[in-house]
Amino acid sequence: MTITHHPSDETLAAFAAGTLGEARSIVVAAHVSLCSKCRATIHTFEQIGGSMIERTEPTPLRAEALEAALSRLDSNFATAPSSLLPKPDYPDVLSPYAIGPWRWIGPGLYWRKADVHSEDDTRVFMLKAAPGTMLPQHRHAGIEWTCVLEGAFRHEFGRYGPGDFDEADENVEHRPFVERGATCICLVALRGKLELQGWIGRLLQPFVRL
Ligand SMILES: [Zn+2]
Repeated sequence: MTITHHPSDETLAAFAAGTLGEARSIVVAAHVSLCSKCRATIHTFEQIGGSMIERTEPTPLRAEALEAALSRLDSNFATAPSSLLPKPDYPDVLSPYAIGPWRWIGPGLYWRKADVHSEDDTRVFMLKAAPGTMLPQHRHAGIEWTCVLEGAFRHEFGRYGPGDFDEADENVEHRPFVERGATCICLVALRGKLELQGWIGRLLQPFVRL
């Protein structure tokens, strides 16, 4: 697996400090479980953070559920998973949470919700898109973080395959399309409003607001 796209250093630092919030941390953890480069970066940030904590206030600890998920990931590192989607068909990071059934939300598009508590109204869900699906053109009014679990999509910033992390914010307007040949499954954390254009977008709107 070749991972090309990583979370920003700012995001990894917040993840290491436990200040990212549970919903966004889950998507970062899904990437980190597959990316030795980011694990090394986080380790460095944790060492820096640890020495700062000794001199300043304690930082909030990650939620227990996330710690449990991360420890499971640690134990998985030894056996280098070939896919992030062993049975059952969701990533290990979602194990502590209730996950809804796959729901059809548009041509070639399915969505399933993970019941993750979020203080800042960030929703966590999985998205499954058939090969060749063109996702609706959209603009972000918040953040949309995506970790690819299977398959691949492309947009103007490149190709995103298994393990790749796409960190889109309000400055991004894009129209991803799914590569032919394989279904694309992603884990997504979404905060704020998406402005979707086109008829598929209008179809999706009620669901992504959930
Ligand atoms: Zn990485």
